[in-house]
Amino acid sequence: MTAYDSNNIFAKILRGELPCYKVYEDEHVLAFLDIMPRSPGHTLVIPKAPSRNILDITEEDYLHVARATRKIAPAAMATFKADGVTVQQHNEPASGQVVFHLHVHIMPRQDGVALLAPASRKEDPKVLEEHAARLSAALRG
Ligand code: 5GP
Repeated sequence: MTAYDSNNIFAKILRGELPCYKVYEDEHVLAFLDIMPRSPGHTLVIPKAPSRNILDITEEDYLHVARATRKIAPAAMATFKADGVTVQQHNEPASGQVVFHLHVHIMPRQDGVALLAPASRKEDPKVLEEHAARLSAALRG
C-alpha cells in the first residue's frame, strides 16, 4: 500500500499551515466543514494520527474517529434541521478518495434532496463561517 504523505491538505490543516472551519477538536481528532459541501453542514472528521485511510489506521485511532462521528452526526442533524444523515468514508482512489488522510464525511440530509456531486461547488466563506459557528456551539452544548 502507498505510504502516508504528510504533505496532504488535511495534514497541513492539522499542523495549522492551512485554515479550516473548525467545529470540534479533542486530543485525538479534529472536525471541520468541507469547503465544497455536498449538503449543508457537510463535516469531515479526521484523526490527529497520520493515517492514509482504513487500511493503515490503528484500531484505537479509528475508534476515536468513530466516537467523534457518533457525537457530531446527531448535532449536525439538529443544527441543520435535517431528516437524516449520511456517514461515508472512502479508501483509495477506486472508492473515491482524493485526500489521503483518513476522513469520515458527515452529511446532513433532507427528505427527497440528493447530495451534490463531490467537489462540484465551493461554498461562500460567510456561509461556512456561520455554519461552523452554529455547529460548534451545538457541540459545546
Ligand atoms: P474524499 O473524496 O477524499 O473522501 O473527500 C475529500 C473531501 O475533501 C471532498 O469532499 C472535498 O470537497 C474536501 N476538500 C478538498 N480540499 C479541501 C480543503 O482544502 N478544505 C476542506 N475543508 N475540505 C476540502
